[in-house]
Amino acid sequence: MATQRIGWIGLGNMGIPMVRNLLKAGFPVSVYNRTISKADPLVAEGASLASSPRELWGKADVLITMVADDAALQAVYKNDGGLLENAPAGKIVIDMSTVSPATTRELAGQLAEKGVEYLDAPVSGSVKPAEQGQLVFMVGGKRTVYESVLPVFEKLGKKSFLLGEQGAGHSAKLAINLLLAFNVQGLAESVLFARENGIAPKDMLAVINESALSNVLIRLKTANIENNHYEAAFALKLMAKDLRLAREQGLHTPGGLALEDSFREATHEWGEQDMMAILPFLSASDEEQPVF
Ligand code: NAP
Repeated sequence: MATQRIGWIGLGNMGIPMVRNLLKAGFPVSVYNRTISKADPLVAEGASLASSPRELWGKADVLITMVADDAALQAVYKNDGGLLENAPAGKIVIDMSTVSPATTRELAGQLAEKGVEYLDAPVSGSVKPAEQGQLVFMVGGKRTVYESVLPVFEKLGKKSFLLGEQGAGHSAKLAINLLLAFNVQGLAESVLFARENGIAPKDMLAVINESALSNVLIRLKTANIENNHYEAAFALKLMAKDLRLAREQGLHTPGGLALEDSFREATHEWGEQDMMAILPFLSASDEEQPVF
């Protein structure tokens, strides 16, 4: 039976299913979200509610943040009722959001002064792996701290990798999302190029999915393209954010820089949609008809 008390901040697309898995595993979980109403279903399933991030210090041994970006994480720490108020020594914080290594090191340093341990542990995998407890964690921080929270990683994911000091998790996360962006934009460009040369998109998708290039991601995104439906599993604006962070972190290779430009421009119109909406964005920028 799980014993560590968990405090959770951030109930978005990822946070909600992850908290649900911890509850199912028997962890006592207290939750905070900026939009409080999003906690209602989890409270009905046994979570207790906190009215500020700070309140979680008194309710939890391990605090986990899963919020949108650097600005959201900074707000969770520095706004009234934030985590920097009254942080008690001996607690552990794990940040599972995707933010910059620089923000990680800044916040980890401020907490270290108060005797609080910090791991960055961003995830690979989207909503479905989150629901199925099949995420992959890339972790930065001390080995002793990492080992003390292994039961949490084991319930939320299929694998966790300790990769180095604080910030290492986020560096690896930016690298894997660069590869993800290549896949998504590559799929879009392949389908559009095929269409311009007389191949129906559904035929091209069928070929790709029977080829050596078929993978779980491409199979999932094929449904988005075929149904012309781009409800966000991973919002395009979040991918644009991750590519921007990679650029700030020194990304300089030609394909990556082109991807950063592409997703940044697409954000204006398609930011709230799934990252696969890079396809209608590219299609529109060619002044052509929708793909299907
Ligand atoms: P999301 O659905 O957009 O949820 C964002 C969360 O951040 C919400 O709880 C939101 O609160 C909170 N938030 C935003 N701005 C805030 C602020 N200023 N102050 C306090 N809270 C704030 O995002 P998500 O898809 O769950 O992703 C969460 C993180 O995981 C992101 O860093 C993302 O890059 C990363 N990630 C996502 C996926 C994916 O497939 N979705 C996969 C891997 C990693 P409200 O409810 O009040 O808006």
